[in-house]
Amino acid sequence: MSRSKECYRCRRERPVSDFIEKKNGMTYGMCSPCLSDILTAPREGKKIRLPHTATERICYLCKRTLPNGAFTRRSNGTYFSACKDCNKNVFAHRRRARMAEAEGSFTTAEWEALRKQYDRCPDCGRRWKDIPVLPRKTSPITRDHVIPISKGGRNDITNLRPVCYSCNSKKGDRPAA
Ligand SMILES: [Zn+2]
Ligand SMILES: [Zn+2]
Ligand SMILES: [Zn+2]
Repeated sequence: MSRSKECYRCRRERPVSDFIEKKNGMTYGMCSPCLSDILTAPREGKKIRLPHTATERICYLCKRTLPNGAFTRRSNGTYFSACKDCNKNVFAHRRRARMAEAEGSFTTAEWEALRKQYDRCPDCGRRWKDIPVLPRKTSPITRDHVIPISKGGRNDITNLRPVCYSCNSKKGDRPAA
C-alpha cells in the first residue's frame, strides 16, 4: 500500500515519507524538498514587492495566491508575509532546527557556577530572596540569552545570565542592554 499526499507548495503528489512527521504523528503539509529549498534560499524574499490585491496576497515562501484570511493579521492591520501554512511549516521547523543546533552547549555545573555569581537580578536589582516565587516554581531565577537564539545567539554559557522571571518575560526577544 503506497500512501502519498500532495505538497501544498510544489503541488506534486509525493510519498508520505517525503514529509516530515510532526510530534503528533501528522505530517507537514509541505514536502521536505520544498522545505529545504526555502530554508537554503537566500533571504531576499521580503524585499521583493509582491503584487497583492485588496482581497488576495501572495505568500513569499510558497508563492501561492491566497485570500487575505490565509494570512495572519497583525494588530496594526498589516499581514505576515508568509501564509499561515508556511508559518506553521517553515517557521516551526526553523525554530526547531535552531534549538537543536543551539542545544546542550553548557552543563548544569556551569550554569550553577554562573548563577552563584549573582545575588540579585541584574535587571531590576531585586535580591533573589526578595522576589516572590511563582506557584509550582522553586526559584525566581530564569535563564536569559544575552543575544537571543532567534538573533543568532548561542545557547552557550558565555551567552547566558540569570534574570528574574519577570524581567525575562518583559525582555521578550530583544537583546539584553
Ligand atoms: Zn513540495
Ligand atoms: Zn505559504
Ligand atoms: Zn528582575
